[in-house]
Order: sequence, then C-alpha cells, then structure tokens
Amino acid sequence: MHVLVLNAGSSSLKYQLVDPSSGTRLLQGLIEEIGGERTYEAAIAEVLGHLEGRAVAAVGHRVVHGGERFVDAVEIDDEVVAAIREVVPLAPLHNPANLAGIAAARAALPNVPHVAVFDTAFHVRMPRRARTYAIDLEVSERLGLRRFGFHGTSHRYVSAQAAAFLERPIAELRMVTLHLGNGASACAVEWGHSVETSMGLTPLEGLVMGTRSGDVGPGLVLRLCRELGVEETDTLLNRKSGLAGLSGLGNDLRVIQRAAAEGDDRARLAINVFAHRARKVIGAYAAVMGGLDAVVLTGGIGEHSVDMRRRILQRLDFLGVTLDEDRNADARVDHDRPVVDIAAEHARVRALVVATNEELQIARDTEAVVRAHKVVKAPSPIPIAISARHVHLDRAAMDVLFGVGSDLTPSRPLSQPGQFASEERVTVVGPRGRLERVRVLGPLRKACQVEVSRTDEFLLGVDAPIRQSGQTADSAPVVLEGPKGTLQLKEGLICAWRHIHMHPDDALAFGVSDGDEVEVAVTGGPRDLVFGDVLVRVSEKYALEMHIDTDEANAAELSSGASGELQEPYRATAATGLIERRR
Ligand code: ADP
Repeated sequence: MHVLVLNAGSSSLKYQLVDPSSGTRLLQGLIEEIGGERTYEAAIAEVLGHLEGRAVAAVGHRVVHGGERFVDAVEIDDEVVAAIREVVPLAPLHNPANLAGIAAARAALPNVPHVAVFDTAFHVRMPRRARTYAIDLEVSERLGLRRFGFHGTSHRYVSAQAAAFLERPIAELRMVTLHLGNGASACAVEWGHSVETSMGLTPLEGLVMGTRSGDVGPGLVLRLCRELGVEETDTLLNRKSGLAGLSGLGNDLRVIQRAAAEGDDRARLAINVFAHRARKVIGAYAAVMGGLDAVVLTGGIGEHSVDMRRRILQRLDFLGVTLDEDRNADARVDHDRPVVDIAAEHARVRALVVATNEELQIARDTEAVVRAHKVVKAPSPIPIAISARHVHLDRAAMDVLFGVGSDLTPSRPLSQPGQFASEERVTVVGPRGRLERVRVLGPLRKACQVEVSRTDEFLLGVDAPIRQSGQTADSAPVVLEGPKGTLQLKEGLICAWRHIHMHPDDALAFGVSDGDEVEVAVTGGPRDLVFGDVLVRVSEKYALEMHIDTDEANAAELSSGASGELQEPYRATAATGLIERRR
C-alpha cells in the first residue's frame, strides 16, 4: 500500500509518498508560496503531476489540532471536517491550512480514503492533573482551556523506535522524549502513554524554541500586554523570542553555535538558556513518572547538535544518565541507522538519539485506519468483574499483620482459578485518610500490592500510579494495619490498569495477544461507555474476564453480571509500539 502524506501549512505543502510496511519513501517534495495566485487546489494538482501515475491507496493528512475529541487517527468524512473546523480557534494558523489541504485533496482524489492524524492525539488523555491549568475551573471549562500538547506524532514515533531498539516492551519503559527542532517540546512517555508534555493550550508553552519563548510567567505576559499591546506581545513571544530573540542572530542553532565559539555573549546565553530548560524538564519528568529508563533526543537539534546534547545531558548522573562523550560525538542517525545509544556502557538510563519520521508514522496510522474498516468484530461478550479495593500480601507481611505463621482463611473463591477472597481484613492508611476493613485476597504472593480506585487514592492522599498487577516497583508507599501489627510498605499502592484475563484460546478467538491494548464497549445500560487502554493478559491459568475498579464501574453504571464487547481489536506490537489494527 502506498500512502500519500500531506502536511499543509499556511503557505506551503509538504508531501511524501510512503510505503508504510517497508518504511520506504518513494518520493517527496515541497510546494511553497501558496496563497494569492497559487491555491491549494493548484498545489495538489502539482503533487499529482509529480506522482506520475503512481497509485495512491490512501491519503494521510497531518492535522495540528484535534481538540479533546480525537485520541486517534480517523478516516475523514464531512463530520470529521466539521469537527476539525470547530477547533480552529485553538489553532488559528494551522487548522485552516490543514483543512484547505484536506478539501483540495479530497476533491482531487475522491475515491481513496483520507485519514487525519493529529499532533494533539497522543496527549489528549494525559492525566487530569497534568492537563489542567490551575485557574478558575469555571472559566477554563467555559473557554475550553486545558493543556493539549503537540508534536504527538513525533513523540509517539520516537518512543516506539526507542523501545524497539532496547528490545523491551514499551509498556515497561519510562522515557523522556525531547523533540528539539524549530518548535521544541518534551514528553514524559510512561508505559507508552504521554503523561506530561511541555506544550500546552498552544505550542508557545514549554521549552525554548527557534523563535518562541516557551514558558514565561503569566505576570510577564500581563506586563508586556500593558507595555506593548496584545498584538505586539503575540508577535514578540511567537516570532521574536527563543534562540532568535536571545541571540539576535536568527533561529538557526548552527549560526548561533559558531558565534558562541567566537565569543559572542548573547549567542552563549541563548545556548545556555536553551540547554538549561531542557535539562530541567528531564529531571521534572523523571519525578512525574517516579523513575526513568531512557532519554530520547530527536528533531534537527536533538539529532545533529553534539554540543547541545552534551549540555543537556551533563551532570545528570544522579538520575542514572551518563553520557559517553565519544559516542555522542560520533552519533549519526539516518534511515539505515535510526537509533544510536550515546549513554556510557554502565549507565542505568539509556540516552538515545533517534531520527524522527512523522511522515512514516502518519502513513502507518493511515494504513491502520484503512485496514480497521475490514475488522470483523469479535463475537462473544466479555464478562466484567468489578474489583473493590483489596490487598495482596506476602509471607512476611502476613506474619507482621496477622501473627507469625498465620494463614489466610478462604471465604469464597474468585473467578480466576485458585484465587479466593479471605476472611482477613486490614486498614489501609495514607497521609490524609484511612480505608477500614479492606479485604485480603489469597493466596499469598511474592510481593505486597494494594489496589485502590482513584476515589480511594484521593481519600488516602497519595498518587497511586496506574499499573498492571505485579508491577509495583516505584509505586506509591502506604501503611497497612492488621490485628497483630503495622506494616510500612515503601511501595505497593497502585490503581489497577484495567485488563482482561484471557486463556490462550480466547486470545486466539479474539485475535489479540498478551500485552495488547484494546477497547471494550459497554452498551445497553443507562451510561454506555467505551473503555480504552484495556490491557490484555493471556495465561493458561486465566478465565475470560475483564477487571475494572469501582470508579470505572460507576462511570458506566455497571453492576455484577455485566459484559462488554471487544472493539476493533488492535495491537500495540512490542517491536514497533505502533497501533496496528488487525484485519
Ligand atoms: P522543524 O521543527 O522546522 O522541523 P528541524 O527539526 O529541522 O526543524 O530543526 C531545525 C533546527 O535544527 C535548527 O535550529 C537548526 O539550526 C538545527 N540544526 C540542524 N542541523 C544542525 C547541526 N548540525 N548542528 C546544530 N543544529 C542543527
């Protein structure tokens, strides 16, 4: 399948013809000076001319802003066009240009599917705490003000490339990805999901960029507005700031680096401020994720500037990041060698330079959407079990809480073979509140684990990370009180990642594998809901059942005996981390 990837800007149209399976770029081009005489229609006609009759199976459009609605790529129809138009106020420069490109391309190629791939989609479901501005909530809700984040296609692509390079499932990795080009942003990618990013409502927030300021205090913006007026402040922050504003030499880092080498103080300052801000974010995001496995650098600066990479990654040894100077100096990434590790051999955290390829990601997403339309929905319903808050204990904890050598008293069997609810109860204590009489599930396990809902978490006063059962490393601390003693757990408190237990036979029937993330729809009740990010766990020991917590059940108004239906089974492959919908 050959996908035509279009990136329509305010005065230019970039295009590539890509084979998403092999990753081959068959041709590419840039048409400039659109507007006035030269319309998008004319530009598309030029693109088709360049194709010289090569078949196009689908068109993938880069769309900057998808608002809150688009969490994934979608096939474009009139309704999707209207939805993209609705969020024009959020991206007044970009979305109209994207729409013009879409309209012209749909008219010229009416018989192939067109797919929109959004820069914001990867970040839309960032945790609420990360996406919310701390201003009057009524105002932000009325005006739709929230942190969106951009460059999502690139952050997603490079994090998947990094996981593939490290030969580890992305669902086990915590990464900070730094996309440093003319626009620059950072993303905390935890288990393959964006949990924090540096751009916000607009792409002006966050890191220092070519001509954009990145973060400044709101007080500074107010002062500038008073001194210069709103329009000039806009121009100052968007076009006359960042590397260009600091150095006075324009936005090309190469020029600035040369001037700095010759002693230009403003050039040096520009470089220092840029690096400082990026370093700061690595530390902050490691804190957000409670750990770090890899730092990924990409974009023109991340991929090419040896000096900037060194400045950003220096003195981070305390985090486990140690640069190998020679590897850094020699790192060259390209199509044939898209990832290079520049960390010292012994470093605990990998530092990876990755060549980004947003067009390839758009082509792959486009192919996936087109293929998904041929998906046969899995037939059988999946029983849903609602897990109340509960505790798993290990032998040592049992000794402390219930007495040395004590045993759990089975009270009733659970649906998963061998598992049971016990008579034993403990009190879970957090810094803010207590949960009394929390049931212990048996049998005893290798490590303690306390599973609570988001509501419980709030009541306890701790941030419980979303984790699959068993992955308690670096999770939240908690105190347990039993009849015989009290136990301080350094880690173990989690909010369970909703999941489906499947026997291998079920997995085969549904066409999914262990570690996949799927969607499950609950219909027929008063509050229909599609659960996304549902983890598939396959084992000979499991019986088919989806597990959600009480908050999740309440959201869909479910009670015992409920069931759901697997939606368009798709697969996040360990190798690519990309979502590949299955036929
Ligand atoms: P865009 O965000 O427009 O796609 P790029 O990702 O191409 O931009 O990044 C452009 C930036 O990368 C510019 O600041 C440019 O100076 C910088 N850059 C490119 N090559 C090098 C290099 N060899 N050394 C330092 N900076 C470089």
